[in-house]
Amino acid sequence: MIPANLENIHARIAAAARAAGRAPAEVTLVAVSKTHPRAAVLAALAAGQAVFGENKVQEAAEKFPIPGAQLHLIGALQTNKAAQAVRLADMIESLDRERLSDAIAKAAAAAGRLPALLVQVNIGDEPQKAGVPLAQADAFIRASRARFGAALQGLMCIPPEGVDPLPYFQRLAAMADAHGLAVRSMGMSGDFEAAISAGATHVRIGTAIFGTRPALPA
Ligand SMILES: *Cc1c(COP(=O)(O)O)cnc(C)c1O
Repeated sequence: MIPANLENIHARIAAAARAAGRAPAEVTLVAVSKTHPRAAVLAALAAGQAVFGENKVQEAAEKFPIPGAQLHLIGALQTNKAAQAVRLADMIESLDRERLSDAIAKAAAAAGRLPALLVQVNIGDEPQKAGVPLAQADAFIRASRARFGAALQGLMCIPPEGVDPLPYFQRLAAMADAHGLAVRSMGMSGDFEAAISAGATHVRIGTAIFGTRPALPA
């Protein structure tokens, strides 16, 4: 099941890339394994999948590190989890505020390792959503670049639900361009083809690979 799902997603990524005049290899698949057991990660790894996404540090630490697997942390990150995140992650995709930058910088100095970083932008300026607000995005991206140098590789977003995501993806890509940043992490199971058409370099896909997640307790 997982190998067949991966094969199907790779075919869809390749088709979407070609339709946009892009090379399929420009798009990295981040397999989002949150809520799924370590065995599911191992099954995907055995099928050739190398990059995984988790949104909670605690849960990620129960499954990773796994030799040969890269871990991206894609969820809202509390400052008190920064040290563990810095030790565990190959990339943190959810840098969105000064205090988290402080915590990551301090943890990186202590650990002697700094993961790659993406600034998460609240691309729809939604009140409840993680990510740096649009009005502060340019300044925060510049400050993060100045602080972390080449480790700051790009931008991540989650567009608003229930509306056409394409304009939001285009907006994130334009922002990455304006800052000379190569990585644009955007697109999930339901909208990754649109994200690829807008220039996604990383798509974060969970359900379409691992199946539906158990409902969260109310
Ligand atoms: C869960 C999650 C995904 C994957 O969502 P699916 O719809 O299952 O593909 C992608 N990005 C983030 C930030 C997530 O939390």
